[in-house]
Order: sequence, then C-alpha cells, then structure tokens
Amino acid sequence: MLFFKKSGFTFFLVLSVCFTLSVAAQNNRLAKTFYKHDKYLSSDKMEGRFPGTKENNHAAVYIKKYFRKYGLAKFGANYYQPFQLFVKEGINKMKSDTVTTQNVVGFIEGSDEKLKKEYIVIGAHYDHWGWGGVGSGSKKKDTVAIHNGADDNASGVAALLCILEKVAKSKEKLKRSIIFVSFSGEEEGLLGSKYFVNHLPILKKAVKVMLNMDMVGRLNAEKQLYMGGAGTFPGGVALMKKIAKNSDLNPVIHAGEVGGSDHVSFYKAGISAVGFHTGGHPQYHTPEDDIERINFEGGALVSQYIYNALIAIANDSQPLYFIEQD
Ligand SMILES: [Zn+2]
Repeated sequence: MLFFKKSGFTFFLVLSVCFTLSVAAQNNRLAKTFYKHDKYLSSDKMEGRFPGTKENNHAAVYIKKYFRKYGLAKFGANYYQPFQLFVKEGINKMKSDTVTTQNVVGFIEGSDEKLKKEYIVIGAHYDHWGWGGVGSGSKKKDTVAIHNGADDNASGVAALLCILEKVAKSKEKLKRSIIFVSFSGEEEGLLGSKYFVNHLPILKKAVKVMLNMDMVGRLNAEKQLYMGGAGTFPGGVALMKKIAKNSDLNPVIHAGEVGGSDHVSFYKAGISAVGFHTGGHPQYHTPEDDIERINFEGGALVSQYIYNALIAIANDSQPLYFIEQD
C-alpha cells in the first residue's frame, strides 16, 4: 500500500514537473519570438520608424510579411491603408512636409455563421520619433539621435505578432472575426487609429471591442500589467480578473481610465476599448529606449494574457455592446 502511495506520488510529481516544463518551454519560445520582433523593429537600421521615411515603410513591410505568413486576409488590394500627415520643421531632421505613411491591416474570419459578422480589433502602433529633434515629442529635443522605441512601441508590435502566431497555430475555432492592425502616426496624435476609425473596412456597428498594446516591454518585478477600459464591454472587468488567475501576472485592472494611446480613437467613436501597458520609465521618448532594457519573458507573459483575453472575447456568447466610463 505504501509502495502504491509512493509510486502514485512519484507519478504525480513527474506529471507536474513535465507540465511545468512544457509551460516554461512555451513561454521561453514566445519570449524568443517577442525578442526577435522587438530587436528587429528597434534596431538602428529602422532609424526610429518615423512616418514618411523609408524606414517606417520598411517596418510596415516587416509587419505585412507576418500578417501574410500567418494567413490574415486582406480587405482591399493589399494590407496597407495609406494616409497623409503633416510633419513640422525640425522633427527627424526634416523640413516641414506632408508625407504619406500607412496602417497595416488584415483579418481572420470567424467560424460562427452569425457572430462572424462581428469584429474584435487588436492593435499596436509601429511608428516612433525617428531622430527626434525640436518639435518632436522627445524628452531630449536637443539630442539628435535615433529614438529606437524598443518599448514605444516595438514591444506592442512584438506582442501583436506573438498573438497572431498563436491564433494562427491554435486549433481553437474563433466565433467572431478578428482584425489585426498596426497603426502609424500615433506619436503625432493617434493619427493612424483616427484615420482607421473614420475609414473602417466594415460597418462601425460591427466593431465590438478594440484591444490596444502600447509599451508592454518593461514588465516590472511586481509583474504589473496595467489596463484601462476593461469596463467598456459587458463582463470585461470580471473576465480580466479571471484570466489573471493562472497568468503569473498581477494585472492592475481599471474599468475606466481610457487614455493614452490608439484605443482612445475607438472609445471616442463609441466602441468598447481596452488599452494595455507595463508602465512608464525614465527612457520614455529618449534615445535610450533600447532593446537591452526590454523584459522579453515579461513580454511573453503579457502576450499570453492578451491572447487569452482575445480568444475569450471573440467566443463570448453574450452580446457585446459599448459601456461608457467616467
Ligand atoms: Zn510614444
């Protein structure tokens, strides 16, 4: 009897170790993918991804490559949604000029006959401040140097591509359709997301929830993932708390406090919107926001968490509607 008990316990131990190892291995793999995307987008070669530059276009090509690789469909002739913006003199070593940049957009159709007509949008901006300079949002305007934006917001795009890869490889059927979008012109005043909301490829009432990631690469020791807007759709706060349970994160969940990034463009248009970030830091909008400071294991945990939220919302059987917050 003792023997059986012992072997049962040993069996249990072996099982738990295997399970823990496989979860760790998955996180490890996701962390490597997160690092790969963040490193590429925040390398000096990308020169800070300023709208209208060839480096910004190059970043869009990189994102498009993964959109195509993981099977996203196009709304139009290609994955780009071009728009124009005005650049003030002195930013990114440029003369004042009207330039063309683009959002990158693709979608996965849902599997439920009815619910596939409803869309969940997940997004992250890919532009940043280029070489900074007077007139830019740089905290070191006098230093003309590449603002790599490893956290702001190569990290959000890294999470977006990690989540897309997981969605593409998952056998789970999604009831609602999902739009993946990477915005440009965020730093100049949420211009890409405003343009997207005003030129939606589908009816506005079909967009049910928007999830946005901006600066998710610097998870702290307390593992706090901050979110605003969880209360803008039914059951949102409860859902985010539930997902937190096995996440190895300590999410700080606000029902309201919708502010700071591209999800605001959706919220202002009466669309439920949640914004995720891992907090501010001294390197924010400086040339020191570099890959060396990125917590890519943390980025993997954040990607996993938001993936779980995305799947739950896409498959939620209750009706989704907008709830205004103070
Ligand atoms: Zn920024």
